[in-house]
Amino acid sequence: AKEPVRVLVTGAAGQIGYALVPMVARGVMMGPDQPVILHMLDIPFAAEALNGVKMELIDAAFPLLKGVIATTDVAEACAGVNVAVMVGGFPRKEGMERKDVMSKNVSIYKSQASALEKYAAPNCKVLVVANPANTNALILKEFAPSIPEKNITCLTRLDHNRALGQVSERLNVQVSDVKNVIIWGNHSSSQYPDTCHATVSTKDGEKSVPALVNDDEWLRGPFIQTVQQRGAAIIKARKLSSALSAASSACDHIRNWVLGTPEGTWVSMGVYSDGSYNVPAGLIYSFPVTCKNGEWSIVQGLSIDDFSRKKMDATATELTEEKALAYSCLN
Ligand code: NDP
Repeated sequence: AKEPVRVLVTGAAGQIGYALVPMVARGVMMGPDQPVILHMLDIPFAAEALNGVKMELIDAAFPLLKGVIATTDVAEACAGVNVAVMVGGFPRKEGMERKDVMSKNVSIYKSQASALEKYAAPNCKVLVVANPANTNALILKEFAPSIPEKNITCLTRLDHNRALGQVSERLNVQVSDVKNVIIWGNHSSSQYPDTCHATVSTKDGEKSVPALVNDDEWLRGPFIQTVQQRGAAIIKARKLSSALSAASSACDHIRNWVLGTPEGTWVSMGVYSDGSYNVPAGLIYSFPVTCKNGEWSIVQGLSIDDFSRKKMDATATELTEEKALAYSCLN
């Protein structure tokens, strides 16, 4: 039998956490034959609720779940973890300045970085979900210098999956037949959902999405806006955030990272930029990646037209500004 993998979920008593932990316990994240031990962290204010989640996990009798730790102690939460999904963060509240939210999150991610560095298993893989996700991940990277930069990522897979969903609805094809959309940049409304290289599997082979849609105006307008604004649309409809789809895509992100992407398929991940596609190095920026043997690599050599270039640059500029704001909060 396989040794259990330890998976940390921070903010585990929150909306996304509540949707995510049962998926992890069912094998959606690490695979159907991989036992897991869940480490759940939350703040003292949420401790009682967190304990309730632990009770439910016990009650669900998940065969793969080999242990549950529910704690408000960061060191205990991080001890020996192989995968860390960082969902906890300070929420945007009405009337708060961007700088105030940033400042709160910078201090959270700075201290959690130190705890992961000290207590996590070597080669721990980190996924940051809490917003501003790219910049939180960057701060985490800066303050956990012994964790390889390749191990620190942020979630743009939800945006990627939303883009697949929109194409599938528009073309009336199965979402599983659509692939290779790209989310470039920030997990914010400046992100660029790109279908230039996306394809659909048909009985006559792979067809290009722009050719099948045959409506550049839609692909460059309403499609992009729908993906960018989907989170707000869900909040409007549900009066709650998109926790189910966020949790599901966090599982997709880690599963593909650990177990690999299918041949010929890429996914979007926020990763530390090496300057590929002239994206400034040193940002956490969403790129198309393939994964193999537990490592991601940025897909190289895709052609970038003028429209795409502008959108990719605009979201990079926003991230550069966020980075500067985050650093100003450190001082
Ligand atoms: P959620 O579980 O709904 O969201 C958690 C974080 O994920 C937020 O930062 C949210 O950003 C972000 N996020 C990213 N993508 C999405 C998406 N598609 N849909 C929704 N959210 C997304 O928040 P809750 O308030 O329910 O839970 C947060 C938990 O974190 C609580 O249990 C709380 O106790 C804990 N917490 C921990 C702190 C710490 O570790 N020090 C500090 C504060 C809270 P956005 O805000 O932009 O929606």
